[in-house]
Amino acid sequence: MSLFNVYPLFDITPVSAKDVYVYDDKNVEYLDLYGGHAVISIGHSHPKYVSAITNQVEKLGFYSNAIQNPLQVELADKLETLSGCKDYQLFLCNSGAEANENALKLASFHNGKKKVLAFKNSFHGRTSAAVAATDNPKIVAPINAQQQVDFVELGDLDAVEAILKQNDTCAVIVEFIQGVGGLDQSTTEFYQGLETLCKHYNTALIADEVQSGFGRTGDFFAFQKHNITPDIISIAKGMGNGFPVGGILIHPSIKASFGLLGTTFGGNHLACAATLSVLDVLEDEKLMQNAKDIADYFQEKAKELPNLKSIKGRGLMIGLEFDFPISELRKKLIFDHHIFTGSATNPNLIRILPPLTIQKKHIDIFFEATCKVLKTL
Ligand code: PLP
Repeated sequence: MSLFNVYPLFDITPVSAKDVYVYDDKNVEYLDLYGGHAVISIGHSHPKYVSAITNQVEKLGFYSNAIQNPLQVELADKLETLSGCKDYQLFLCNSGAEANENALKLASFHNGKKKVLAFKNSFHGRTSAAVAATDNPKIVAPINAQQQVDFVELGDLDAVEAILKQNDTCAVIVEFIQGVGGLDQSTTEFYQGLETLCKHYNTALIADEVQSGFGRTGDFFAFQKHNITPDIISIAKGMGNGFPVGGILIHPSIKASFGLLGTTFGGNHLACAATLSVLDVLEDEKLMQNAKDIADYFQEKAKELPNLKSIKGRGLMIGLEFDFPISELRKKLIFDHHIFTGSATNPNLIRILPPLTIQKKHIDIFFEATCKVLKTL
């Protein structure tokens, strides 16, 4: 059987990894500044993570959600403490798209409305609010999304209000820093205005923290910079450090009832053990503070780069926008200097999403290599 060929692949085969380094089948070492789309939060194969998963699978990897699972309770408590999201409720699932699907469904159950409002250039997974990257035909909205989802410019409160006042929008879903779309973010004034409009028109505000959450920005969640209280927060990626796990945090004003949401695999014992160990390491190794410190260092170093148009993002969710397409630069970084970086829908932008354990010396390696490559382009 052949693989369904949907990914253009680089000719590299990783077989092992340790912290910020990945090794291929020829034992070549690569510096990982991308973490598989912001997934690797506490570093590859962290010993505490490995032993948490190994110990758990030896005991019990999975059992049904219809039976008590104390690990879910422990996880909810730990998540509340570390995130500072007091009294939210946790529902666990398996991926970012699934988290957002549950968030949208829950919003609709809660206020009885149906439509969704998302922002241009956003990405919420292959969901009914898939993407509004109208200039990116590669990621297209699903059939009928155009009927269900309105897309407006990020930052345009008037456009938001014009839609919400029609009173058929169950949720506004927003990335407080856009990931795939290219690291754009709006102002605190806009986000607070959005929150006010959502409250006024009885529309749920969903913070999609799938990429920006779990400490990546230096805060636990990116929305926390703006002093917002979302109704639902979706999480995945860095949560499991590679183990497929996702979830939503649900504001106490939204009440649960039996059968409202459900999943077979979500919140299984193995996923909980993986996530608990991620939270432990985040806390023990003060990785959110590290994210802030390294981000400051990165910003300083980036000022020295020639041809740089802008630096976008926050914390260790960084976009370097050049005044030319970066595909050649990325290729040379990978093949000549063995450094992984990411791309975005903006062809001129490199995305840097390293493990939160990254150190200054790794940033130095990146800038040295980038300066060398820039001279050859
Ligand atoms: N939301 C955001 C902000 C994302 O960046 C992504 C994935 O890139 C998703 C949702 C979808 O997550 P998943 O690929 O786990 O379904």
